Amino acid sequence: MALTQPQTRTQIDGNTLVAKTLLHAGVTHMFGVVGIPVTSLATRSVALGIRFIAFHNEQSAGYAASAYGFLTGKPGILLTVSGPGCVHGLAGLSNAAINAWPTLLISGSSDQHYSGKGDFQELDQLATVKPFSKFSAKPVSISQVPGHVFDVLRHAVSGRPGGVYLDLPTDVLHQTVTEDEADELIKAAASAGVSEKPSGFSGDLSAAVAALRSAKRPLIVVGKGAAYARAEGELKKFVEMTGIPFLPTPMGKGMLPDNHDLAATAARSLAIGQCDVALVVGARLNWLLHFGEPPKWAHDVKFILVDICKEEVELRKPYVGLIGDAKEVLGLINKEIKDDPFCLGRNHPWVESISSKVKDNVAKMEVQLSKVVVPFNFMTPMRIIRDAILGVGSPYPVLVSEGANTMDVGRAVLPQMEPRTRLDAGTWGTMGVGLGYCIAAAVACPERLVVAVEGDSGFGFSAMEVETLVRYQLPVVVIVFNNGGVYGGDRRSPEEITGPHKDDPAPTSFVHEAKYHVLIEAFGGKGYLVKTPDELKSALDESFSARKPAVINVILDPYAGSESGRLQHKN
Ligand code: ADP
Ligand code: MG
Repeated sequence: MALTQPQTRTQIDGNTLVAKTLLHAGVTHMFGVVGIPVTSLATRSVALGIRFIAFHNEQSAGYAASAYGFLTGKPGILLTVSGPGCVHGLAGLSNAAINAWPTLLISGSSDQHYSGKGDFQELDQLATVKPFSKFSAKPVSISQVPGHVFDVLRHAVSGRPGGVYLDLPTDVLHQTVTEDEADELIKAAASAGVSEKPSGFSGDLSAAVAALRSAKRPLIVVGKGAAYARAEGELKKFVEMTGIPFLPTPMGKGMLPDNHDLAATAARSLAIGQCDVALVVGARLNWLLHFGEPPKWAHDVKFILVDICKEEVELRKPYVGLIGDAKEVLGLINKEIKDDPFCLGRNHPWVESISSKVKDNVAKMEVQLSKVVVPFNFMTPMRIIRDAILGVGSPYPVLVSEGANTMDVGRAVLPQMEPRTRLDAGTWGTMGVGLGYCIAAAVACPERLVVAVEGDSGFGFSAMEVETLVRYQLPVVVIVFNNGGVYGGDRRSPEEITGPHKDDPAPTSFVHEAKYHVLIEAFGGKGYLVKTPDELKSALDESFSARKPAVINVILDPYAGSESGRLQHKN
């Protein structure tokens, strides 16, 4: 006799249904700050097996979610309360949109019944997120929840990845359905699928390959879109097959190791100034690449642009546009070349000019790095940190970096040996990303140590999250380059120090030699104060092997470096 399953009559509410749907859609991590009306959403998610990392501030949690999206290729999830929580979450959502990283902001919202009457934390959140969300959804009743959850997740990763938004009204979170109804709804929603691998290619492949083949000074520029696409295997093949030098953007660094003999990083100006054909893969020709225009680029350089985003390619009007996923397109290019291979060879005049410039510049840099300057400038501690990172070996640490001089010098000195091991201020030059990025990297890449090299100003934006590091016992070492302010000491000229508030500290100044290391000790983490090479070496040694939360407070000469770092002309 066949037994029929009894129907479950257990009721679940909207909070549980959201959690169940997220789990079903493959979500494993969430970042956020709980409160009305989403606390149960977080606790139920945890009960179902999703890891929820609870932050102090939605801004940091949002940066974490965006970086998680970049590192894993899955949407990073940021959960916030309504009204102000949603507004704070915009920091992460906008950062995701600008960097093209898949990120889902989920905010609770006020009760639909009181809409327009001034309910608790009421805000038109759909309108608020609009500039930074490429797709938004708001279920008006519980039966719409699973469909909308799948919709937003799908949109986050399809086409150019970016920010999406899900609005969850309080009343919907409190409505109920039976478990059976819930399962049916989830099943129906799931049938539409979640993760769409970006597919479809368009463009003139043979024109692209012909241009590369006939180029006298070809260059490949590798951006974080290529890193996101996990195109490192195809890139390696391309570079090995053709012998074409490559130039990574800051977060494209590591796609091939920085010490590769075709890396043009240390000859950047020469490479972009003189190349005649540039294959740009997953990088926008924006300010970071001098808009692809003279005087940094030659006026007649031919760009071959590979991008998932059709509008991006149309905007830049390249010589050839190849629209598609970077991994797929590089694979197609390799195939096309393989039929009739060409290779520049290390003696090719272009390759030689780049490698000799690289050797020159590296040697010059080494001279600077080998000086022992105390009180510290930027170079001396950076060299010690570089050696410590190289000493870790593979899997190399994820490096998080923000600041002005700290980030500029760090980008030149600190090695990136493996793909997706660098997170920095990015397309927007966002300060305050540090601790959020560290936490995201620690949970997304559990096999790696996380090392942050931060200016004291950058660190201050999210410093309270050191408690989060300690609470979750994440293997993160935060190194603060403490020069007592934004850009360091007071650099005003005497004429600028005038008026009734002339005795106030300069707008760029912080407390001299602030004890940032004590901050983490308040929560049970490890703090180090260092002023000399030996102290720094021993702090790095100890903290890198402990793999426990630590802050190393490195005191610098407040007048080392320049105002605004590399972007001085803009300030
Ligand atoms: P970078 O800061 O490294 O220069 P950008 O953020 O400027 O990088 O550019 C990244 C580009 O990569 C964006 O234009 C984005 O549309 C594109 N992109 C994102 N995902 C993919 C992908 N899978 N394949 C190709 N391009 C991608
Ligand atoms: Mg500073």
